[in-house]
Amino acid sequence: MTSTKPAVLWLNVTIFALTFLVAVIATPLYAYFVGFDGAQWLMLLIAFSFCGMSITAGYHRLWSHKTYEANTVVRCIFAIGGAFALQNSILHWSSDHRIHHRYVDNNDKDPYSAKMGFFYSHIGWMLREYQASRYNDYSNCRDLQKDKIVMWQHKYYVLLAVLTNFGIPFLFGLIHGDVWGALLLVGVVRLVLSHHTTFFINSLAHIWGSQPYTEKNTARDNGLLAFLTFGEGYHNFHHIFENDYRNGIRWWQFDPTKWLIKSLSWIGATRNLRTSPEDRIEKAKVRMLHKRVQKKLMDNRATNHSTQLKLARLDEEYELLVQKIADYYDAKKRLLELKKKKLLKHYESFEFLQQYNEMKRRLEEQQRSWQQLTAQYV
Ligand SMILES: [Zn+2]
Ligand SMILES: [Zn+2]
Repeated sequence: MTSTKPAVLWLNVTIFALTFLVAVIATPLYAYFVGFDGAQWLMLLIAFSFCGMSITAGYHRLWSHKTYEANTVVRCIFAIGGAFALQNSILHWSSDHRIHHRYVDNNDKDPYSAKMGFFYSHIGWMLREYQASRYNDYSNCRDLQKDKIVMWQHKYYVLLAVLTNFGIPFLFGLIHGDVWGALLLVGVVRLVLSHHTTFFINSLAHIWGSQPYTEKNTARDNGLLAFLTFGEGYHNFHHIFENDYRNGIRWWQFDPTKWLIKSLSWIGATRNLRTSPEDRIEKAKVRMLHKRVQKKLMDNRATNHSTQLKLARLDEEYELLVQKIADYYDAKKRLLELKKKKLLKHYESFEFLQQYNEMKRRLEEQQRSWQQLTAQYV
């Protein structure tokens, strides 16, 4: 077969292959013959988290999606951590990622389209010159080009990447007393883990998991992936509410990136954290379930009178639920606004609170009825 494929990017191939081989062959041998101690494992965890969170909180949620603002110190730390993670500059990464969201699953435009298969979306897209034509086109990141830290990191990216990837493990090794061990564990193993867990978001998080919010794209919610990726596994939610600083929106969902951004806001290091309106999130979920049950009922070959009745009942319950969601969140919003402006006199406050509680009760009642109805189909 004559190859019409784009040229191989040998630097990338070498880095990925070499680091992977050293991590899986040399490191276990070193562990066996020399050994690693607790301090080295702890440093691996710290360095891995530094890389991971710089990508998730920095590259992804701060720069690509602008879901919050951060002060200079925080931005500097994320810029350095991103170079340490060796995933190209903020500007380049964000440009790719914005295209990914805009043209998700479009094989011609999405740089890591999941429809190209696991290998391609995981790592294959970086092994050849697939996007040579737009390599220096950052026109979708003009806002980022005004950020001095972004441009400084872009200019000195290679230097920063070399300094962090060799410097941090080397310094730790000197202090701790085992330079080779540190280079292996904190240098190579940390990099390989950081690479592949991040790459899972483009590959596995578009293949494996549930789709509670939308089926319009391949993105999935997956708690296990969230655990490996500092919270980025709630990817189905993220692809529909990309301006939300959270990916796991429930308190019990594992999203340390969200916790970090929120904690930093308490000391004033981050601000203007954006969240999606709760009613929109609820409605998206209900809409998805409605669609799914509807499809299931219609797929049933024997479409007869009873199916028609079931469909009608489903639609009716769905409309009622959507209405009650709207009513409840309206009441909630009104109450909060009045409370904020301190406009409420005591008796008014009581009246509004009563109204709010009534809406809440009606919504919960409808939710129970909806759950009962849909549970038999999904
Ligand atoms: Zn994103
Ligand atoms: Zn995605």
